[in-house]
Amino acid sequence: MTFGRKGLNEGSDKGDSLSAIFRRLIATTGPISLMHYMGEANARYYASKDPLGAGGDFVTAPEISQMFGEMIGLWLADLWGRAGMRQDVHYVELGPGRGTLARDALRAARKFGFRPEVHFVEGSPALRVIQAGAVPGATWHDDLSTVPTDGPIMLVANEFLDALPTRQLVRTAEGWRERMVGLNGERFVPVAGPQPMDAAVAEDRRAQPEGTIIETCPAAATVLYEVGHRLVRQGGAALFIDYGHAEPRTGSTLQAVRAHEKVDPFAAPGEADLTAHVDFAISARIAESCGARWLGTATQGDWLRVLGISQRAQALAQAAPDQAEALDTALHRLTDDAEMGTLFKVMGLASPDWPDGAGF
Ligand code: SAH
Repeated sequence: MTFGRKGLNEGSDKGDSLSAIFRRLIATTGPISLMHYMGEANARYYASKDPLGAGGDFVTAPEISQMFGEMIGLWLADLWGRAGMRQDVHYVELGPGRGTLARDALRAARKFGFRPEVHFVEGSPALRVIQAGAVPGATWHDDLSTVPTDGPIMLVANEFLDALPTRQLVRTAEGWRERMVGLNGERFVPVAGPQPMDAAVAEDRRAQPEGTIIETCPAAATVLYEVGHRLVRQGGAALFIDYGHAEPRTGSTLQAVRAHEKVDPFAAPGEADLTAHVDFAISARIAESCGARWLGTATQGDWLRVLGISQRAQALAQAAPDQAEALDTALHRLTDDAEMGTLFKVMGLASPDWPDGAGF
């Protein structure tokens, strides 16, 4: 979960591309798991650069418009207010990117008296520098374990879970196997691993046609357990926003994005952003198994509209008429079914004794 550890052979191979390191490793020891491949590739990818900045690889909702962070800030302030306005509250964000969401959310929520301590869980040294500029006074953590345990947490994670290493299981003629990454000449190719993995697939999902792929994300599960337990022990609420599905499904959702284009995930590990869809059904079940309350999972479009994003766009356009068209474009990108409105989901969680959250 952290980027603090050294990558494969980093001490002796400084300067080598991750492709070269993977090729040597696979040639010596055989195929590596896709989970291992994705974990190392993303650690390398995020550690050194700002993928969201000008000339970056992809754009996220908070970078499209301030309205996104503002709606999240209003949601937090509203729920926190109805839960009793605890002053010892912590704002926690997982993978804050450029710090834009936190800046916009905290500015909007401050008007309602929400002035939390700010804790960022961020692995990338390059992004920490940018976050410090956006949100002065924040505290950084490599993972959730060092975030304070002494007050309610209001936690936000936008496009964080999708970047965590996914594990794929594939149904072969011999039963379920883990999907691995092997070599065909110099090229990385997915291959089925040698070990039987039937026990890793839930019994009711085992009977599938040959070639079926099932994804699981142990690292995301770990995050949901930790957040679920903290909500029960400390109080508070959490919002997970990501692309994904609210019902269990099959098939590979692994994708790589570079310079705003989809590219082959096996072409250049460490040089493109690797993601997989988030399984919100499992995520909710894990949090509930800890005793936390699942408030609901809504599409991003519906959730933002209930929170009042259209009215906010109108108010901003009235104040700055020259921005009206840009605001309308941003609103469309964030909420339209053909854009981010349906593919992206918002999942709310809360402590069992906290009230309902808006928008679910
Ligand atoms: N939330 C931001 C950024 C999304 S990109 C936005 O919406 O714009 C993913 C973010 O998660 C980056 O900040 C990245 O550095 C961070 N991240 C990815 N994997 C991580 C890990 N294993 N541990 C800590 N941070 C991680």
